[in-house]
Amino acid sequence: MMDRTLTPTPNTCALPRRFSDFATFCDALDYAAQGSRGLNFHDPRGNLARSYPYSELRNDALGMARRLVASGIKPGDRIALIAETGPEFAAMFCGAIYAGAWPVPLPLPTSFGGKEGYIDQLTVQLNSSDPTVLLFPAEIAAMASEAASRQGCEAVSYEDFAAREEGSQELPEPQPDDICYLQYSSGSTRFPHGVAVTHRSLLNNLRGHSTGMKLEPSDRCVSWLPWYHDMGLVGCLLSPIANQVSTDYLKTDDFARRPLAWLDMISRNEGTTLSYSPTFGYDICARRISSQSSVSERFDLSRWRIAGNGADMIRPDVMQSFVNAFADAGFRSDAFLPSYGLAEATLAVTIMPPGEGIRVELVEEERLSGSPRDLSRPARYRAIVNCGKPVLDMDVEIRGKNGEVKADHQIGKVLCRGPSVMHSYFRDPESTAECLVDGWLDTGDMGYMADGYLFIVGRAKDMIIINGKNHWPQDIEWAVEQLPGFHQGDIAAFSVETENGEEVPAVLVHCRVSDPEERLKLHSEIRDKVRSITGMNCVIELIPPRTLPRTSSGKLSRAKAKKLYLSGEIEPFKVAA
Ligand code: ATP
Ligand code: MG
Repeated sequence: MMDRTLTPTPNTCALPRRFSDFATFCDALDYAAQGSRGLNFHDPRGNLARSYPYSELRNDALGMARRLVASGIKPGDRIALIAETGPEFAAMFCGAIYAGAWPVPLPLPTSFGGKEGYIDQLTVQLNSSDPTVLLFPAEIAAMASEAASRQGCEAVSYEDFAAREEGSQELPEPQPDDICYLQYSSGSTRFPHGVAVTHRSLLNNLRGHSTGMKLEPSDRCVSWLPWYHDMGLVGCLLSPIANQVSTDYLKTDDFARRPLAWLDMISRNEGTTLSYSPTFGYDICARRISSQSSVSERFDLSRWRIAGNGADMIRPDVMQSFVNAFADAGFRSDAFLPSYGLAEATLAVTIMPPGEGIRVELVEEERLSGSPRDLSRPARYRAIVNCGKPVLDMDVEIRGKNGEVKADHQIGKVLCRGPSVMHSYFRDPESTAECLVDGWLDTGDMGYMADGYLFIVGRAKDMIIINGKNHWPQDIEWAVEQLPGFHQGDIAAFSVETENGEEVPAVLVHCRVSDPEERLKLHSEIRDKVRSITGMNCVIELIPPRTLPRTSSGKLSRAKAKKLYLSGEIEPFKVAA
């Protein structure tokens, strides 16, 4: 039987509920602090470790703001924060905003890339955001201090900063068009870029996605998403605050070690749950379930009202395996809520109306890539997921190469415009000018509209172009994944130049077999599969498991995979020809 005594703080709020209709984020936190809701931090098993009501968060944040002002911080200064999921980051993030400074959430170290790689990435992010101070959790003092010293900013642990004296100066009054914080993009196609988000943009997007999701008073958020990524920060920290919703957090690292603790937490919530994840989170959980019999005893997912999915390609096959694995625990497939968004638009661009679940359209792969149909081979189709309707105040247009607006079902560049679209990247007018024209943001994604719904096909930069013919890497990757023994995320496809100057697709594949004969067999199976899709010979490389690079938010970075492969940092197994 499930132990319901673990249910954390009551899901009540004495306040008349308001949905994100504030002038600044400070107004939102001031309001939430009058109620009884807040943040709840859980241990690795998903049991409540600390409740942190919004009233306490606000108090601590104001204390941090006074300390920042007493340390000489001025409005507009950047405060870099290593975003560990816990009260310290939450208080400093909100404190910096109360002080008129701009918090900059930065990633924690991940298992990929090692210590040096982490320090390098941190240093580049510190160089580009140019903060006055970097705050970090004590456990990573050495790495954080090293990066800060390379960049030349002060580095202080959260603990040491909290022990400083509070000043008595007045706090500034942030205005709606002031910058609220800097948000880095994930770095899937290039080094992460810092987006300057204003209070107005933030609140507009919060209102947009909250009304789109039709929030209910019984809703409670459960999240393991990192706070250095927009889906975790905006969707699961700032939105709950602005909507007076409580949230239960599991640290991202704890989720990686014990993913099912996420579903335990959802099971224990007596109200209705809002919880989001990119496809890979659902995939990991579905694969962890070995015997169906224990599912209904251990989990109760019947009150999971919104199971959001976005941040990366939504995989209908994976989502179906999740439904199959957890239907016995009461999970309903219509809880799935696809969404599409990006850091440059604060968070959400489109979301599916609740209750519609995952809807797909089957489209011929050659139509998706814009290549002429090769009649010598059977047609292949990809299921394209409906990512929903534009959020309130957001315009979405599909445009062709010459800027012409495309009709329904015609594939082109996805552009969006609205109050939550950024005005600029921080101190990067060149990159800003490349993607922002007349208020329209070129998202870098390709897709199409149909009846007011957006369908995302892929990232323009990831497209493989060989002999004038285009291929989407995911069409190759997903086909190879269908071979036995592979999982989602085991394969990366991109193009490389051969010795005689020709471009060919290269496919890197995690290989878990060690027997040379078996490897050879696998290699030829993959080669045949890829040839059946592309119609040409490709470079196929078997590589050690877990070597494909992921962004700090967990997405596969094909651009980085190509770089590591070409530089020899990813070393393929030798396969006898
Ligand atoms: P970078 O811009 O630094 O290369 P990134 O684009 O991954 O990295 P984010 O802003 O975190 O950085 O992610 C937004 C991107 O994620 C979108 O532009 C899109 O490519 C992808 N994405 C988000 N939602 C979806 C979705 N529902 N389906 C497909 N792709 C999605
Ligand atoms: Mg991007």
